[in-house]
Amino acid sequence: MAKDLLSTGEKDVATHLHSYTNLAALPQTPPLVIVSGDGIHVVDDQGKRYVEGMSGLWCASLGFSNKRLAAAGAKALDTLPYYHTFNQRTNVAVADLAEKLLALAPVPMARVFFANSGSEANDSAVKMVWYYHNAIGMPAKKKIIARRNAYHGVTVAAASLGGLDGNHRDFDLPIATAPEARFLHVDCPHHYRYAQDGETEQDFSTRLAQQIEERILAEGPETVAAFIAEPVMGAGGVLVPPAGYFEKVQAVLRKYDVLMIADEVICGFGRTGNMFGSTTLGIQPDILCCAKALSSGYVPISAVMVNDKVHSAIAANSGKLGSFGHGYTYSGHPVACAVALETLQVYEDEKLIDHVQALAPAFQAGLRSFAERRWVGNWRGVGLIGAIELMADKAARTPFAADRKAGYRFAALALEEGLIVRAMGDSIGLCPPLIITAAELADLFARLTRAMDRFDAEMGV
Ligand code: PMP
Repeated sequence: MAKDLLSTGEKDVATHLHSYTNLAALPQTPPLVIVSGDGIHVVDDQGKRYVEGMSGLWCASLGFSNKRLAAAGAKALDTLPYYHTFNQRTNVAVADLAEKLLALAPVPMARVFFANSGSEANDSAVKMVWYYHNAIGMPAKKKIIARRNAYHGVTVAAASLGGLDGNHRDFDLPIATAPEARFLHVDCPHHYRYAQDGETEQDFSTRLAQQIEERILAEGPETVAAFIAEPVMGAGGVLVPPAGYFEKVQAVLRKYDVLMIADEVICGFGRTGNMFGSTTLGIQPDILCCAKALSSGYVPISAVMVNDKVHSAIAANSGKLGSFGHGYTYSGHPVACAVALETLQVYEDEKLIDHVQALAPAFQAGLRSFAERRWVGNWRGVGLIGAIELMADKAARTPFAADRKAGYRFAALALEEGLIVRAMGDSIGLCPPLIITAAELADLFARLTRAMDRFDAEMGV
């Protein structure tokens, strides 16, 4: 076939190295080609419409056709399409956005650094933690504790922080940083799967906090710099932490002078029913990373907020060295900042957080309605993010064998029903655009129910 007659799918398979895809199988399983979006829906090249139950990758909070964001981007492109923020340069949008983010921060923050992705934000946070400890004369305090099943991105440092095997295997990660490992992992707070028999949420939280304390003592508190956590773990399966978790963990961190980094890349900007997940979950971060819904995913942008303790030490050290040797070509990109500013304004004008709070009970009731289904072991959710977890044997809490690919099968059935969900192992994630209406939410759950009926039939009720 002549090259110009190739379909988009064929051209894509022949040329594009895909993210998070079985590359070997791609030629037999051509990609879904999405061509447009409207509201909470996206449309493929065959004209089929889908409810985007995941906001793309947890980001398109305002759906797929917000005209105000398009106009803000166009205006910015027309005014100042690019400028950088190195060497005492700035632009109007980045200064306005930094001011706005500091005003919205869940705890007092002093400065905002800008990057282009969640991974870069977390990578920057790691570097700031190291730089900070050098600045305050504690060069041995460099280890960062993260959690198994965590997702913090895919750059070398961000993937090292993450606790998912697929991001480590054959990439030689977590990276070794001589003379000893700097990325440590502790258990994740998944009460349903990992609590011991009869252990309450509070008792489970106490045990996990103790585990962190034991780890800090074993490593030597003088070597442990920071702890990083998503308020609600996203890609690890939408894990809402058990009662008391962050309160108990932070008491340990304070005892040993360990910085708290909140990875708000998914939770930031209303997802959990407050502007930040830190507010919902009671986290007082020293460093806060955010991205995704900062621009509703329309343009790449992320931010790292740091408190005064961290900023003043970093600033003083850069004074000694002559410069803070970190930043990206696109840090504070004027077009990205303008779209982000408009996004935050839309949240305010449309009272989107009130809307999330109003809709959250219906969302959770929808998830709960699956609790009695044959293959559903657990449901969980807060605000407008949640999951149901498929289990082969609910009573014995036995997962499906990995080769049954139950989660993938369920997601494929949902897709046929015109609903995009995310299979994370056998946890089925939902994270719809925040603009979803009550009627659209009912439609989403009707599609999910039809997918579950078909899954039941396939698996044998
Ligand atoms: N942190 C969290 C909590 C995330 O969910 C993600 C992406 N899903 C990242 C960081 C990485 O963001 P990015 O893909 O923009 O690098």
